Amino acid sequence: MSRVMAQSHLGTALKDILQRIEIAALQRRPSEFGSHVPQLIAVSKTKPVSAVLEAYQCGQRHFGENYVQEIVEKGSNPEILKLEDIKWHFIGHLQRNKCNNLTAVPNLYMVQTIDTTKLATALNNSWEKQNKSVKLKVMVQVNTSGEENKSGCPPEQCVDLINHILNNCNGLEFSGIMTIGAVARSVQQGNTNEDFKSLLSCREKVCENLGLSAADVELSMGMSADFEHAIEMGSSYVRIGSSIFGAR
Ligand SMILES: *Cc1c(COP(=O)(O)O)cnc(C)c1O
Repeated sequence: MSRVMAQSHLGTALKDILQRIEIAALQRRPSEFGSHVPQLIAVSKTKPVSAVLEAYQCGQRHFGENYVQEIVEKGSNPEILKLEDIKWHFIGHLQRNKCNNLTAVPNLYMVQTIDTTKLATALNNSWEKQNKSVKLKVMVQVNTSGEENKSGCPPEQCVDLINHILNNCNGLEFSGIMTIGAVARSVQQGNTNEDFKSLLSCREKVCENLGLSAADVELSMGMSADFEHAIEMGSSYVRIGSSIFGAR
């Protein structure tokens, strides 16, 4: 099956990205960042269920969605429901009143966009009502670029927010921090991306203040335009859409 699929455009693109991820991790990442290959999250937003199915047939398991309505629809599609080991990441802005819709999505694996204590509490309560046997993995989204139109918590509030999750949200498992970053910085070649740098220093502060080790705080950074650079700087989750599924 995978050989046939690998000849399709999507299959070829996916294979190419996986190869580039591996090369970046093996050849360009300093050893202090560990040796495990970063996890690819295929961002399928605005793309049809058929595209998700095709990527799955090619071996992809982690998928990312931005809109609650869309992850609800895709996640409960009868064909998708047959894929028991599919892992959904929510990577879009989340409103508190949408938490119950989101936590009901079968195979929801991680929510990467916690940015306030109120949202963490709401998501925690919602997850606990679902009575699942596992905790819901979450990341804190950090607004590293300081742009007003971007969601994410300011870097200086990161420690308090994570402290709140660790101490008051028993249904949630803190997994790490994520950033989207400024577009201008992501397309700038040759320079260290300031958003990635800021996320790294955020992790340092979090580890220092909360007694965590760097391995306890995964980094979700890097998209189509800049994932190799993100990996070079220590990213453990890259979120890639258009390079796999085509332009939106
Ligand atoms: C759309 C999106 C991506 C993927 O972006 P591409 O440039 O298509 O790879 C990654 N992360 C987030 C949060 C997104 O909204």
